[in-house]
This record gives sequence, structure tokens and C-alpha cells, in this order.
Amino acid sequence: MLRFDDRVAIITGAGHGLGRSHALLLAERGAKVVVNDLGGALDGTGASAGPAAEVVELITKNGGQAIANADNVATPEGARAIAQAAIDAFGKIDIVVNNAGILRDRSFGKMAVEDFDGVLAVHVRGSYLVSQAAYPYMKEAGYGRIVNTSSPAGLFGNFGQANYSTAKMGLVGLTKTLGIEGARNGIKANAIAPIAWTRMTESLLPAEFEAKFTPERVSALVAYLVHESCAPSGEVFSVGGGRVARVFVAEGPGWKSDDLTPESLADNWDAVMAEQPYVLSATDSMKAML
Ligand code: NAD
Repeated sequence: MLRFDDRVAIITGAGHGLGRSHALLLAERGAKVVVNDLGGALDGTGASAGPAAEVVELITKNGGQAIANADNVATPEGARAIAQAAIDAFGKIDIVVNNAGILRDRSFGKMAVEDFDGVLAVHVRGSYLVSQAAYPYMKEAGYGRIVNTSSPAGLFGNFGQANYSTAKMGLVGLTKTLGIEGARNGIKANAIAPIAWTRMTESLLPAEFEAKFTPERVSALVAYLVHESCAPSGEVFSVGGGRVARVFVAEGPGWKSDDLTPESLADNWDAVMAEQPYVLSATDSMKAML
């Protein structure tokens, strides 16, 4: 059994849905958990200490260890306070699961700048800020596990979610660079692109999805990714309904010519669009251009 005894985990947005499920699973397996949740509505308005406190009550009742925190991940003060809460209560930070999220769906032409910025602030800035607040403790310990929460909407696009898609693809970039930078300090970072039945999706998914797409089926992957035995870093995984798959950013083999013109491109467009063999790194991409 993968256990987390003596590990300290910060889980953001853990008052509801996926984060709550991650917190319950890690606590059940021995982790000391900081249950962070601002406690607002789905669009990020409002705040309440209630949801985080309720999850902590449940963990404690089951014999686990956790503290509640209602700070905002999207502000530097909030992120620092979350990390400090972990240090004050448990003395270290081994794990950060950046899960907090909001939705402000609008079709692109109608999307107000506040809705664009507001969504990026929670998902992207929040994940950056909380990870960075925890980073010095992880570096000092030579150990850390970070999971960022992307989305199929970011990887593949979705109508009405230009803000959310931008944010969720941004988290793929953050994860890849954290994977590279963290390697020298024993810090691994991965991202998940989940599907689960939560308050965020219950009005979007067909009713029959509720039983299959449980948050617990996503938490199983998160637990593996934040365990010390986790193999990958800098990777993205699609997860939902009991299925897990690697998602990878790849470049096709490409088509090249020393005399590239709009016309020669048009004539060779099928070769430009070819997918395999894949090029999987910036270095290999550069080599293919030489
Ligand atoms: P949810 O609304 O149940 O949970 C999100 C939680 O984040 C809420 O409890 C909310 O209070 C908290 N939160 C929001 N803003 C915050 C802030 N600034 N600081 C601290 N906490 C904040 O939704 P969920 O489905 O459990 O979503 C969890 C994550 O998974 C989100 O990042 C979401 O975008 C992502 N996601 C979910 C699905 C899905 O199918 N449910 C799909 C793709 C991605």
C-alpha cells in the first residue's frame, strides 16, 4: 500500500469535489493535510471558512491529521499564508496539489477582461504562487511532489472557455518547466487533466456519469503522483472514470525546404501535417530544423 506517513500535504480548493477527495485519501493514508479552500461560489465570488473546516472535521473524525485554511491562492499573501500554516502546524511541506479552480464561461466575443483575468488568477497565478511559497522548503529538504490540475478543455479547447482553456494549457507549461527545474532538488511535478462529477460539472455531464466519474477515481492517480515512488516528472495525464492515459505534447517530423515559399508549403501541406515519428523535446525540434 502506498502510504504517506510523516508527509505533509497542501491541497488547495479541498473544500469540495476533487480536492476534498484528494485530501480524504491522503489523510487516510497517513499524510498531515492542509485543507485549503476559499469557500466561494463556482465563479469565485464570495468566501466562507465552512467547506475547509468541514473536510478537516471529517478527517479528524476518521483519525487523520489536518488543519483548515481559507486563504486565497491567487494572492501572494494568501499563498504565503497557506505555506506558513503548513510549517506552523506540521514543520515542513512535502506535497502541493494545486487544485483550486473557478469557472466564468462566456463565448469569446462576450468575454470580459475581468472574467479572463479572474480565471487565470486562480488557476495559473494560484498554482505558481502556492508552489513557489512551498518551494524553498522542498529545496531545502531535497524532496517535493507537485501536482497541477489542467483540464481536457485546456488541452483540446472547449466552446465558451477561452479563459479556462488558456489557464489550463498554461499549467501544462508550468508543469513542464517545474519538472525540469525541480529535478536537481528531488522535486517532481506532474499535471492531471481530470473528468469527475463535481459541482463544477454536474450541470454539464449526463446524469449517468455520476456513478462512473467519481472524484475518488481521480484521487488514485494524484496519490500515486505525490508518493515518493512516483516515477514521472513533467508529464500530463488524462484521468477519469477509472482510465488513466499519458498526454504528450508532440511535434510531427515536418517538411523542410531550403526554398520555402507559400506555394511550396501549400503543395506539401500533407507532409507538414504528418504526425509520426514524433518529436518530443525542444532540443529534438531544433535538431530537426538543421
Ligand atoms: P469544485 O468547484 O468542486 O472545487 C474547486 C474548489 O476550489 C472549490 O471548493 C472552491 O471553493 C475552491 N477555490 C476556488 N477559488 C479558490 C481560491 N482562489 N483559493 C482557494 N480555493 C479556491 O470543482 P472541482 O471539479 O472539484 O475542480 C477541482 C479542479 O479540477 C479545478 O481546478 C478544476 O478546474 C479542475 N477540473 C475539474 C474537472 C471536472 O470534471 N470536475 C475537469 C477538468 C478540470
